[in-house]
Amino acid sequence: MSYKQATRTLRKKLGSRVATDEASLFAASFDGSKLAYPPEAVIRPRTEEEISEVLKLANRRRVPVTTRGGGSSLTGSASPRRGGWVLDLAHLTKLRIDRSTGMAYAQCGVLNGTLQRAAEKAGWFYPPDPSSQKYGTLAGNIACNAGGMRGGKYGVTRDYVLALRGVLPTGEIVYWGRDLKKYAAGYNMRDLWIGSEGTLGVITEAILRLIPKPPARRTLLASFRSEARALQTVKAILTERLTPSILEFLDRESVGCAEGATGQAVFPGNAGRPVLLIELDGHEAAVDEDRQRLLELLRPRAIAIREADDEKEVDALWEVRRKCSGAMFELGDSKLNEDVVVPLRSQTKLLAFIRKLGREKRVSIATFGHAADGNFHVNIMYHREDKDESARALEAVRALMAKVLELGGAISGEHGIGLAKTPFLALEHGAAEIAAMKAVKQALDPADILNPGKIFEVCEVWKKRPVRVRLPWDHK
Ligand SMILES: Cc1cc2nc3c(=O)[nH]c(=O)nc-3n(C[C@H](O)[C@H](O)[C@H](O)COP(=O)(O)OP(=O)(O)OC[C@H]3O[C@@H](n4cnc5c(N)ncnc54)[C@H](O)[C@@H]3O)c2cc1C
Repeated sequence: MSYKQATRTLRKKLGSRVATDEASLFAASFDGSKLAYPPEAVIRPRTEEEISEVLKLANRRRVPVTTRGGGSSLTGSASPRRGGWVLDLAHLTKLRIDRSTGMAYAQCGVLNGTLQRAAEKAGWFYPPDPSSQKYGTLAGNIACNAGGMRGGKYGVTRDYVLALRGVLPTGEIVYWGRDLKKYAAGYNMRDLWIGSEGTLGVITEAILRLIPKPPARRTLLASFRSEARALQTVKAILTERLTPSILEFLDRESVGCAEGATGQAVFPGNAGRPVLLIELDGHEAAVDEDRQRLLELLRPRAIAIREADDEKEVDALWEVRRKCSGAMFELGDSKLNEDVVVPLRSQTKLLAFIRKLGREKRVSIATFGHAADGNFHVNIMYHREDKDESARALEAVRALMAKVLELGGAISGEHGIGLAKTPFLALEHGAAEIAAMKAVKQALDPADILNPGKIFEVCEVWKKRPVRVRLPWDHK
């Protein structure tokens, strides 16, 4: 469907802030999932009032609007599936930190990494740390309820949002919450927007809670004879009530790929073993005590342990984690990256299942993830040109999702549903639950203009692959 007339009307109001040039349309046609759909125009409003104007017009003319931050979503949630307008808000980047209250006042386009650095400079700490912090905006993080490596100890984005300001799909400007640490006035619409993937409203500003920066940190890397042994150690660490800020698990394949990329073994003479990357943080004395207890737990269980003594060594230990994701492309030129989450009791069973799945479906699978909260990134690798292997990779995803739910887990821990996980929503939720979600959408967005075709509709991805593009981070 063409929205040319509506676009012309909008251009009369916003002038050059409505772009229709090829480069702008191409850049806004896909996100980190590489699922690409061409929009009709890319709109870069300067103010909330302009955003309101855009949405009012879109409502009258039934133009689909996809709000976009950094475009790093891995599920297609920022791809404009129904065309129409992309509302690009990445340029709205004002940020202020109140040093006395520990609150950050951020416009939607501030990058996660920018807030982290600004908070640290002010002596504060913003824990949510998605690996996309160089590209992902705070509004994108909020819309996806992004997590990260520190989630097990510090929680996810939702735990730091005090208030949101923004625009309803019908164009009214709203303010959910205040810069207060307590708030109980009416329905909690703020939390409804968090994780709604841009389908219920447009976030323009957020007030975020910061915490005092932990003064000390220790980093360790341990390798294990088997995945089961590594995950039993995770359980032992958590049972002992140790709360590492980072407890990353990497399976054999992930370690092998990282070693291939760096050209050296993580543990010389002990290559290709699963590892745990562990960080403790807090006050010096507490970190020292926890380090002793951690080493006592690790020594009888691990084959080898490396501990960083200075920042250079910390960096070296992180190399394996940093490199593994990009290095996986040596296993196949395409990746289905699933961010499933399972309870602690099911972690070993999940990893055993994934190994069997890889053998049965004859696809390479590399798994790493945030073991403290059971959120594993299962990377099913395949070669796009090989039709048979591509079909087997999709079958593997279906089998994985069914197993995750059988194990008491969830189909997404941090990336959301977007387009990529639409076939599985009905496995995760019953009919009454989905009907309740759709009723909320209908109430707030009666014309269904905001990010239509996401979350609830099974996408053609699962029938015929739409155009996919290659992204800069694919081969990092
Ligand atoms: C290399 C890489 C590593 C990643 N690592 C992690 C990770 O560790 N943890 C994690 O959770 N995710 C991770 N992601 C996924 C992604 O970065 C996050 O989902 C991030 O929150 C998206 O932010 P963004 O600004 O890029 O949003 P976009 O991709 O632009 O949009 C994502 C969703 O948010 C909506 N949205 C954007 N801005 C607004 C707004 N102003 N108002 C309302 N809705 C809006 C969009 O409509 C869309 O539905 C990773 C992605 C990449 C590419």
